[in-house]
Formats: sequence, structure tokens, C-alpha cells
Amino acid sequence: MRIGIDLGGTNIAAGLINENLEIVEKDSVKTLRGADAVVSEMEVLAHSLCSQAGLRLSDIESVGVGSPGAVDSREGIVVYSNNLEFSDVPLAAMLGGKLGLPVRIGNDANVAALGEFHAGAGRKAASMALITLGTGVGGGIILGGRIYDGFNGMAGEAGHMTVVKDGALCTCGRNGCWEAYASATGLIRMTKDAIARHPESIMVQISEERGKVSGRTAFMAARQGDQAGNEVVDEYLSYVACGIANLINLLQPAMLCVGGGISHEGAYLIERLQPLVDAELYNVGERKTEMCLAELGNDAGVIGAAML
Ligand SMILES: [Zn+2]
Repeated sequence: MRIGIDLGGTNIAAGLINENLEIVEKDSVKTLRGADAVVSEMEVLAHSLCSQAGLRLSDIESVGVGSPGAVDSREGIVVYSNNLEFSDVPLAAMLGGKLGLPVRIGNDANVAALGEFHAGAGRKAASMALITLGTGVGGGIILGGRIYDGFNGMAGEAGHMTVVKDGALCTCGRNGCWEAYASATGLIRMTKDAIARHPESIMVQISEERGKVSGRTAFMAARQGDQAGNEVVDEYLSYVACGIANLINLLQPAMLCVGGGISHEGAYLIERLQPLVDAELYNVGERKTEMCLAELGNDAGVIGAAML
């Protein structure tokens, strides 16, 4: 048995994972502020998971933690996390010291990719890149069954490759990052612009009924045949496809897995995305990267962390 912990800015989710990579016990708490408080919360979670399962801490093989931000997985340090307000926090040593167990840490998107590769959509693939289209755009690369995170643990930041030189300002300070266009945040911006230009669009009613413009507004309108909604979805997906084609051209992974909130659009998303990606691929051969949807949702982070 192993313990996987998905450390988020809002919640800490933890799970007890068996050798079939199934979650047998689960628990979560709200994330407190400060590294000491967070480590204490994780310690309490580890104890409660064990008691739920009738185990002792000494029955646990290892503990893994997926953390947001820049993570040096080799040194076990969260170098910087904006969400957690962490700077050079030796998280692996702090938690390992409390539990008396080996603790490994990794970046949350990389860790989710690892979980999805071994226990979810990537089970039969030889290699995989995962992207998450949510508030931001996350990425994780799995080669040879392991996370590829560069020499310093910080690779896989697909969201921060440029798709528009001198384009929209990204949260990272760079201009034109993929994240500024392909995130739900980018989609909401495009939807609001379109609503202002097209007061006849059903996007106006959809957003009024739901009290806000969301990442679903344009998709809902497009599914009902709304022209302006379709234009927004086409524009948004052209940016998503551009980044996906960049990743495939660079890596040629067996599988390109799409997760995050936008992936809840399901098969419709892949159907509209596939021709846009195909049109930009360098590969004209028979053996092509398969695009798929993530299957595990939030569980990917917990399972992947346990596999570190
Ligand atoms: Zn950026």
C-alpha cells in the first residue's frame, strides 16, 4: 500500500492506493496557509487513511505528493508556488520526518499525467503527453513509463510555450503563451468579446440564465447551432490545436490525452479538435498520435502521486 497526496491551493486530497493502482480509501481537507500547517494536515490525513483501512503507518511502503508550482523532484523541494505561497520548502524532508516514511514529490500536472498513464487513458500507450485545459493549461510528459521533467524537475510546462509572438499577457509574465489562449480563462475572454459583438447570439441568454459567462457558454451555444457560438469555439479550438500540434511535432507521443474542465465537453471536443490538429501535423505517415480524453479526473493526481 502507498499513499498519494494531491496538494492543491484549495484542498488537499489523499488516497490509499493498492498494488492494482486502485484507491481503496480517500480523504480530503481544506488547505491551510503555511508550510508547517500543510505538512501537519498531510500527516493527519496519512494517519486517518491508515486507521480507516485498519493499517499501521509502518504498513505503508511510501508516500508521494503532487504540488502546484515549480518542484525540484530530485531534491524534494517546492521551489516556488504562487498558490501555496511556498518558496524553497523542503516538503519531502518535512513530511518524511513526521511520518518516518520515504516521501517523494512532483509537480501536480506531471503527477496527474503519471496517474493517467498507468491507471487511466494511457494504460495501453507506450508514451503520453497530457494537457489539462482548466483555469490555466497544465502539461505532463511520460516517456518510458516515467515523468520527463527535465534536468531540474521543471519540464512539461506546455502552457507556457508561445503560440502568438507578442500576444496576450500570460500570468507568468510572458506574452502569447498557449495558456493565455487555450485555458478556460482564454475561452471566457473570447466568449465575452463575442457576446459584446453579437447581442443576437443565444450566448446572451445562456450566460444570463446561469448568472455568468463560463467555459461552457460558447460550447452550449455551438451545440445548438448558434453561429457566434460556433465562431468562438472554432477560434478557441484553433489555439488549442496549435499547441497540441506543437507538442506532437516535438514529441510524437503514442497518446495525447486531454484533461481539465474543458475536457468535460467529451467526444464532441475531440471530434472538432481532430481535423484542426491533423491539418497542422508534420507527420504524414500512417502511425499517428492518438488523441483521447482523460478518464480519472481528480483521482489521477492522487494515484500518480502514490506512484512517485
Ligand atoms: Zn506563460
